[in-house]
Parts: sequence; structure tokens; C-alpha cells
Amino acid sequence: MSHQVLIPTPLRPYTDNQERVEVEARTVGEALAALTTRHHGLRRHLYADDGKLRSFVNVYLNDDDIRYLDREATALGPGDVISIVPSVAGGAPTTAPPAAPELTPGDYERYSRHLILPEVGVDGQRRLKAARVLCVGAGGLGSPAALYLAAAGVGTIGLIDFDAVEASNLQRQIIHSTEDVGRSKLVSAKHRLTALNPDLQVESFETRLTSANALEIFRGYDVVLDGTDNFATRYLVNDACVLLGIPNAYGSIFRFEGQASVFAAKDGPCYRCLYPEPPPAGLVPSCAEGGVLGVLPGVIGTIQATETIKLILGGGRPLIGRLLLYDAWNMGFRELKLRRDAACPACGDHPTIRELIDYEQFCGVVPAAAAPAADPGEEVTVEQLKAKLETGGPVYILDVREPNEFQICHIPGSVLIPLAQLPNRLSELPGPGDTRELIVHCKMGGRSAKAVKLLHEQGFTRARNLTGGILAWIDRIDPRQPKY
Ligand code: ZN
Repeated sequence: MSHQVLIPTPLRPYTDNQERVEVEARTVGEALAALTTRHHGLRRHLYADDGKLRSFVNVYLNDDDIRYLDREATALGPGDVISIVPSVAGGAPTTAPPAAPELTPGDYERYSRHLILPEVGVDGQRRLKAARVLCVGAGGLGSPAALYLAAAGVGTIGLIDFDAVEASNLQRQIIHSTEDVGRSKLVSAKHRLTALNPDLQVESFETRLTSANALEIFRGYDVVLDGTDNFATRYLVNDACVLLGIPNAYGSIFRFEGQASVFAAKDGPCYRCLYPEPPPAGLVPSCAEGGVLGVLPGVIGTIQATETIKLILGGGRPLIGRLLLYDAWNMGFRELKLRRDAACPACGDHPTIRELIDYEQFCGVVPAAAAPAADPGEEVTVEQLKAKLETGGPVYILDVREPNEFQICHIPGSVLIPLAQLPNRLSELPGPGDTRELIVHCKMGGRSAKAVKLLHEQGFTRARNLTGGILAWIDRIDPRQPKY
């Protein structure tokens, strides 16, 4: 039976640069013997003088280390793939382009741990020094990514963000400090990055990324690192990268799970090959609504930085055509194959996207200014609610958040029924004979708007949404309660 043996980069000089070698074998041992018979130079890298596999060479059968199977006697089945994973890597360094800046004596000292890696070396470090990376967003993903890129010696980092640092950012956005609360994220990030590496050039774009400015900002960068938190900007970043031919180190996070990939490389695939269309607006909650484990963006942002550095060095096996899934709660990584979609409107055979479009409209997000005025009959302000409560007006306050949010803060007298449970718990609400007003709220008003819509459809036509949710209540009525 014929099987593939995957050869890691450092050992390819001994297999005539082949990435995979096909061998006839019934066991792993036979496969390795066939491999080293054909490629004699490999033998001393895999086996010690006593004929045993070297301890720093791991051999995997599919996803399993053969040490946990029957070692070299492990039988091979149809389609089984053998991988050699050496813990010590050799390999040929790439040559830096002649225009790359020379290293200074200070650089030799600072980057000495890179310089002794053959995969980086002096040429690789010069490539890093010449490189220009744009981080879209200086938040959860941008924080670790920009810090590691600055530390690694990337010469120029562009940052786009227009937010100010809030206390609730500090749980994960480690580029900012407590003293930065209230400051511009870009000012704070630049301060931290240049403290880490004074040679770094930071290019700040304190603006919202739009179809009108994206191409102009992106042009001239070698890699774009997508650390955005909304779908409209994700599609915008993707399309701009495809149009300009700039690789996109992608990452996204939600609660305990993250994703990473590299899009828009020369032969695709891109984000649209993975997700041709965004989910309907409001269907997928944001991290502000759904929460995120603070360390999660640390892992995913660091993976994005790793991929960015590999793209600059031109080495390793990039995350192109692969979607890496990370589950922090169960602690595991999975990898899915990602193929370029020939019908992809951005990177397909006949692309229809030749310029940037209106991404907010594409994603079903209507800009606030253009949104039709809400029916005043359906919204209640926190001041109106307070007045009702003070005059003893008959009110039933329904809180559709989650129990852990209710525990942080709640409006006195409110009843908690999480949005997901609402369809099955309608009987608990005041029925048609009840004259109480039904006022629904959540954290900021998004989930409760969905609840009000559902309630209207179910005949609870008196249900009204509390504008701005409990955050507005705390801001304007009851500032003693904690916000989150
Ligand atoms: Zn595509």
C-alpha cells in the first residue's frame, strides 16, 4: 500500500526539496526505512548510530504520535499520512532584499535570539526591519499582535483606531494601562510600543476605516492584520486586501472560541470564500453583549503576529487555506481546510468586486443617522420609567439579560427571563387581562428590541423597549450600581 510521508522544511534539503514522499509500506517503520533508502542523507537526521529514532524527532501517524501507538510497528491503513516533526530545525535562510536596512550593533544585541535561528538570521531580521504591517484595531487582538511585532523588530507598524480606552477594555487589551483610561487608544498604544522598541516607526490613523479611505491607508503595507470586531469592517478589510494583493492575517474571537487564518494571499482563499455573506444584523452578538475571556485574544492575536512574521520571512508553513479553530474552555485546536471558491465575488475566477462597496449596507447595518425614527409608542426612556415607578404606575419590568449580568446590576422590581428562554416562558408575563405596562430592557437595548418584536408577534402589543438599557438607567438614574 502506498503512503505519504510529509517532510518538514528543515529536512527537505535531503529529499530533493520534496514536501511529501510517497512510499510503499505496511508499518511506520517500513515507511521510514523506504524513505531513508531512497533519500540516504535523511538517515542520520532520523536515526542515531544504534539504529533507534532520534529522541528529538517525532513521528506522527495522522494526528497521533507513534510513541502512543505501536511505535515503528504501528500498522498503516488506507489513506494514513506520516509526518516527521523534528524539534530542532535547520534549513536555509532566505536572503533579504538588497534595499532592506542593515542591522545596527544594537540590533545584533536586541535580536540575538532571532539571529541564531537559521530560519530568521541576519537576512530575516533585515526583512523584519524593512517590513510594514498595518494593524486594524488597537483592541483585544491588536494589543498582543502589535506588542509582539514591535518586540520582534518589525520596522513600521500602522495602527487604525478611533476609540478611547475604557476601563472595561483592560481585562484583555494589554497594550493599554489603567492610567490610559480616557486617552485615545492610538496615543496609548504608540506610547507603549515605542517604550518597548524605540526604533519602531508607528503610523497612526485615528479614523474610522471606510470604503473611502481604506485603499489609501492600506497601500504600501506588506501585511494587514485584521483585529476588527464587526462584520462590516471585516468584509471591507478583506476586499481591500484582495484588491491590493496584500495578505491578511485574520483573527476573530467570541466568548471562549477563536479563529485564525491567512487570507488574500496570491492564490486565495479569502474571507468571502469562507463566509460569502454576513449573518443578518443582530443575529450574532458582539463581545460587548456575549462576553469574551480576557486571555483569548492573547492567543489568537499572537497567532496572527506569528503568521505575519512568517509571511515577512517567507518561511514556514503559513495558515493559508486553513482555518484554525481554538476552544479555550475545552482547550483544543482544530484545523479545517479552506479552499478558494471559484465563484467568490472577490478572489474568484470572475470577480465582481472591483471597488469597495457600502459595507454597512451589505451587512444590514443602517447607520444611526439614517435610521428611521423609532416609533415613540415602542420606546420608553429611563426618565419615563423612573417617573412611572415614582407615581406607582402599574409597570412590569422584564429583564432579558443573562443571570450573571442580572447579578452585577438590575432595576429594582424587574423580572429576569433571558432572551433565549422567552419564547417558552410567555405564560409568566402579564396576560391580556392585566393592565400593567410591559417594559423590556437588556444591557444596551439590542436584545430587548428583539424581545419586544417577539412579544408583539405573540400578541403582547403593550410591550415597549427601554432605550439604552440598564447602562442608561445607571448613567442617568442610579449611578450607585456598577456598570459592565
Ligand atoms: Zn475569496
